[in-house]
Amino acid sequence: MNYKLLLIVFVSGLFISQIPASYTAPTTELREAISYEGDTIYSSTGTTPTQTIKTIMFRDDDAHLWYNFITFKNITDTLIINRIPQTNGVISHKGGTIYSPILRVEYSTRTTPTQTLPIQPIKTIMFRVDDAQPWFNFITFKNITDTLIINRIPLTISVIPYSGGTSIGNDTTLKTYLNTIKNYDTVELALNGYMHTVNEFGYRDQAAEEARISSGLAIFKSELNLVPVTFIPPYHQYNTATVNAAKNKGLTRFSTGSYNDNYPWQEKPSGLLHVPVVSEFYDWDVNRPRTYDQITSDCQISLEKYNACVILLHSGTFNGSAVVDPVKYKTLLEVINWTHKKESEGVKLVTIKQYVR
Ligand SMILES: [Zn+2]
Repeated sequence: MNYKLLLIVFVSGLFISQIPASYTAPTTELREAISYEGDTIYSSTGTTPTQTIKTIMFRDDDAHLWYNFITFKNITDTLIINRIPQTNGVISHKGGTIYSPILRVEYSTRTTPTQTLPIQPIKTIMFRVDDAQPWFNFITFKNITDTLIINRIPLTISVIPYSGGTSIGNDTTLKTYLNTIKNYDTVELALNGYMHTVNEFGYRDQAAEEARISSGLAIFKSELNLVPVTFIPPYHQYNTATVNAAKNKGLTRFSTGSYNDNYPWQEKPSGLLHVPVVSEFYDWDVNRPRTYDQITSDCQISLEKYNACVILLHSGTFNGSAVVDPVKYKTLLEVINWTHKKESEGVKLVTIKQYVR
């Protein structure tokens, strides 16, 4: 189990000598120190033992009778307004009385001494870049993925292992690039079928589908030295045999379209979490790019309903006469800005692999 914890303990009394009358809460520093790497922050009572994500907790010790309440409140309020969950260690019996009156009033308005504030549901945005494959337009693809990477937007790249009669291993430019970026925390490489042909999945028995997944996994192993966790059925074609095959082959995330996923954001079967696309950069029905408003509003609706959103893009739809179409590229930059605005409001940005309900 990848269980990684950090518990930060401090005593508010230690802050007294350092806090002048004009003390200002260290809002910026606190945010930057904690929120940058996509870690989830829980109080110790809000921790779920089964989670595999990284967790930071704050413990503020030694609240007790008739001590420097103003400093205590300053420190704890700073954590609260910065949405940092905390567990307060309370000395319940000191000087013959349980809690000072002012401490009791303060706690009764916000929480009880042994509880922490209720944790808001975490909203999550993910980006999926589809159809990395041998001998496609690598320059546009790299332009789009690099843009996301340098803007700190986590992305899940769906990789077609074998296409056009050849493996990704034979396109050394693509292979080298994928082997470099796979090491970034913000990059996930997902299995996008095997050959990505029409009806490759959703129309065979389970054994045949497992065989194709195995072929894809073998190329991931030999060319990328990687075991993917996310399965993306080509053309979003799948049936029950497909999800069972994906699960049997060890995949734990399943990403199709929300329009044909009956179990969005659920585990079905157990161990295979569905993480469907809800918003897209391109409208394939009418063959034209979708607008900034369309892309962001679809995502926003899903954030409100499911606390999660996956935005899909295909680098090929950004091709222009000079490699990358500047108008389409501008939409990408605007959506990135919108995503960072959501992040500043508390939305998490993760890869599909990192997503936790
Ligand atoms: Zn695809």
